[in-house]
Amino acid sequence: MESPTGGFLILLGIRPQDGGTAVGVFECSASSLRYEIVIPKATRTERKKVRDVLQQGGDPGCPRHGPDFRLVRAGKNLVCSNCGVAYARV
Ligand SMILES: [Zn+2]
Repeated sequence: MESPTGGFLILLGIRPQDGGTAVGVFECSASSLRYEIVIPKATRTERKKVRDVLQQGGDPGCPRHGPDFRLVRAGKNLVCSNCGVAYARV
């Protein structure tokens, strides 16, 4: 991803927030400025999709990243490690 100052934005990490949203932290390679991008929380449709798979005893993937990206347990939530969004409670 290109940054407004001419460098590249490097993903430093994803911080899951209370309430199901997440914040992506990026650093610009040219200016070392940091940017935070808020990732919106799971929609009702996305949560339902994950719940359906769980009820069938399956291993749900991230509704945004696809089935190759498994959701992982983080406390009481099932979270995608790529977008940091919580899609279900366990
Ligand atoms: Zn994801």
